[in-house]
Amino acid sequence: MIVVMSPSASREDVTNVRRTIEEHGLQAFVSAGQERTVIGVVGSDVDRVANIGSLDGVEQVIRVTNPYKLASVEHHPERTRVMVGSVPVGLGEDLVVMAGPCSVESREMLLDTARWVAHEGARGLRGGAFKPRTSPYTFQGLGPPALEMLAEARQETGLPVMSEVTDAADVETFDRHVDVLQVGSRNMHNFVLLRAVGQSTHPVLLKRGFGATIEEWLMAAEYILSSGNSNVILCERGIRTFETATRNTLDLSAVPVLRSKTHLPIMVDPSHGTGQRDLVGPMALAGAAVGADALLIEVHPDPPSAQSDGEQSLSFPEFGALMDELRRLQLLRMRAAEPAPGPSEVPPAPIGALRDRIDEIDDSLASLVQERAALALDVQRARGANGHGHDVRRERELLERAAAEGGGPLAPEEMMQIFGAILRASRAVQRRGAQASLLGERGA
Ligand code: PEP
Ligand code: MN
Repeated sequence: MIVVMSPSASREDVTNVRRTIEEHGLQAFVSAGQERTVIGVVGSDVDRVANIGSLDGVEQVIRVTNPYKLASVEHHPERTRVMVGSVPVGLGEDLVVMAGPCSVESREMLLDTARWVAHEGARGLRGGAFKPRTSPYTFQGLGPPALEMLAEARQETGLPVMSEVTDAADVETFDRHVDVLQVGSRNMHNFVLLRAVGQSTHPVLLKRGFGATIEEWLMAAEYILSSGNSNVILCERGIRTFETATRNTLDLSAVPVLRSKTHLPIMVDPSHGTGQRDLVGPMALAGAAVGADALLIEVHPDPPSAQSDGEQSLSFPEFGALMDELRRLQLLRMRAAEPAPGPSEVPPAPIGALRDRIDEIDDSLASLVQERAALALDVQRARGANGHGHDVRRERELLERAAAEGGGPLAPEEMMQIFGAILRASRAVQRRGAQASLLGERGA
């Protein structure tokens, strides 16, 4: 049951409602919004306070048909913002990317990864210390020393850190070392652990059980919330289906479904959701596009040698490219522009000279590309208004020539991307030209 107080209710009215609920052996969870206060009533027999609507200051009493209450939008009409260290997640804040290795394998690899992902714009570091692996014979994590390493990485990079807790008895230790306690997919139904992290002073990342419905997942969140911890982030990480082409089926429709049911922030984990490196980028973009508040990405300095989840971990350059793409599509905020160098920070001479040469090349490239487009337009005009269209054979040959040009550091596919973009723009110019001459002919 949810008791909605009227905007004019006094503090005494709220206290009175709360006391009445508690006197009937029920729990009252008060959530004060900007405009009004809402009180969640939790207990086995909420009918004991069936007449609470007649108390002063009560505007409405909503009987909740969902089995979850504290997690519901009715209880908390405003979206919740969870602070991960000093990073806000949810409530229309910028997309937050948390990245790092599946397992902390050594101090060095963790620090290298932390520095790299921080540099690329990640706002949190993940790393498993205790790994709940399917097989007892595979790497189980470094345990407590990994928590020390995470704390050190936070100290050095300023990134808040997150790690998975697998045992209720470890919650206090985690609280001393990390900023977010992760409850893994395999433990989503571990109610002892859920109650224990509900006592934590830190936010909890609650992963969806791979066999759990959205309602069961929200009920798991309810365990944490009703134990006193209101800082829960839900993480969609894929579910088991009959599909075998991917490790799991990343249920992205869960994001808008959750949005309609809960106020809690939502994270998407395309790494575990797909299990394959080449699918992580596309599904991360999709997760961001569908409204996730945060993304979880596994990154490793050398994925083929990773002790766990190497197949789904991005290399450093792959992670950088994904962050660029998120920014290009404006799903992630552009990095703050580099400050103009002050008198004392003029770049050293060789960099200045190199940049001057780059500027010269960019200027020539820009005018060459324009000249090329003007020639393409001449070709279109020579063909006549109805003769537009491109010569696919010539275009293919150009792309092949570009890919074969091995005189520099660009990879064949990068050369093809560049020339592909030039060709697309060129076709657009030709179409506009054809349309203009068509309209001209009609007008004539
Ligand atoms: C992990 O994040 O490394 C992990 C084990 O995830 P999940 O619980 O989603 O399998
Ligand atoms: Mn993993």
